[in-house]
Amino acid sequence: MTKNQDLLTRGKNVMVPNYAPLPIVPVRAQGVTLFDADDKEYIDLTGGIAVTALGHCNREVTKVIAEQAATLMHVSNYFTNEPAIELAEALCEKTGFERVFFANSGSEVNEAALKLARRYATNLGDKPKHKIIAFHKAFHGRSLFTVTAGGTDAYKAGFGPLPAKMEHTSFNDLESLSAMMDGETCAVIMEPIMGEGGIHGSATEFAQGVRDLCDQHQALLVFDEVQTGMGRTGDLFCFQGLSVKPDILTTAKALGNGFPIGAMMTTAKIAEAFQPGTHGSTFGGNPLACSVGKKVLEIISRPETLAQVKKSGKLITAKMNTINEEFPIFSEIRGKGLLIGCQLNEQFKDKTKDILNKGIEQGVLTLLAGPDVLRFAPSLLITEDEINKALGKLRLAIKEVYNESK
Ligand code: PLP
Repeated sequence: MTKNQDLLTRGKNVMVPNYAPLPIVPVRAQGVTLFDADDKEYIDLTGGIAVTALGHCNREVTKVIAEQAATLMHVSNYFTNEPAIELAEALCEKTGFERVFFANSGSEVNEAALKLARRYATNLGDKPKHKIIAFHKAFHGRSLFTVTAGGTDAYKAGFGPLPAKMEHTSFNDLESLSAMMDGETCAVIMEPIMGEGGIHGSATEFAQGVRDLCDQHQALLVFDEVQTGMGRTGDLFCFQGLSVKPDILTTAKALGNGFPIGAMMTTAKIAEAFQPGTHGSTFGGNPLACSVGKKVLEIISRPETLAQVKKSGKLITAKMNTINEEFPIFSEIRGKGLLIGCQLNEQFKDKTKDILNKGIEQGVLTLLAGPDVLRFAPSLLITEDEINKALGKLRLAIKEVYNESK
């Protein structure tokens, strides 16, 4: 039995079976290079699902973790702390928001955003204003409130009764959203580019239209940038490239480069709806997580980092189009920056898992987004050489799948 197999068997014996782990077990990594328990090497195009934006074990981040862990890790929310204040200041400065709430994950900051929207609406007056509108195929997390906001029925099955007054409509369809919105609507939540739902970007007119409808009905616009935030699309936040500003912005994943942290940003006026005792978190905003977030934000905000994201995204897209000319299995390569989705065409639409598995055999790690999209969300610092190497391996995986099924 290999070490990978041994670990997988032991894991199966003790872990709740809510995941289906891949056949290798990563044990160490640096940058985009990752090693499994049997010492096989891979190039990681997953970035831990858009998390390790500065690469695995980034040395600057590791240094901050070591230093802060030896200084002050946790104080509880009986106190404020310097790293949290500094990270909040930096986020406000870079986004134009005025108040920040920290938690530990994307689900938690989205939960906070939805609760804030309800609470803010409650304070507006006597009329009921509880309705939250979200989109089919959206993903906002796994807590009961956020999974209900998500647009995948399978993720909600068996967990009812679900929070009430949450409705769903089609993404990029302004007419159907407009028909659903009324004075009872307190918020619309959307991902500016749907990640888990298949890498579908919102058209600029749609995003602008949602903004206008929210203003018209005194509803808050929540942008979930848990996946698109922190430089992933080539802007620090995707909304900055869309020129549509939400009322509440959430981010997590890459903010900690693997260390758990999430941030919800909003205006001073809306933030007033959360007074002491209304919402909180034991770990949220701890000095260790916030020190990491500060360093990550500093590195990602550098113009050269964001420029590299745009350049690398174009390079990957061009190379995937070339591979597709040779082995035509995709109908579209789409996305922005380093959030890229390759849509399988009708003939190959059930082959995503095969490509992913053959990729592992070749030594390259990729992601899926929905049932028929192959996704890349690698480190923002991935180099041209690493891209060439990774896509060379992926080409071989695609070639095999193509030849087996054509
Ligand atoms: N929102 C979006 C857009 C996501 O992509 C995810 C995770 O994939 C989440 C929320 C949930 O984040 P977490 O798993 O950190 O709770």
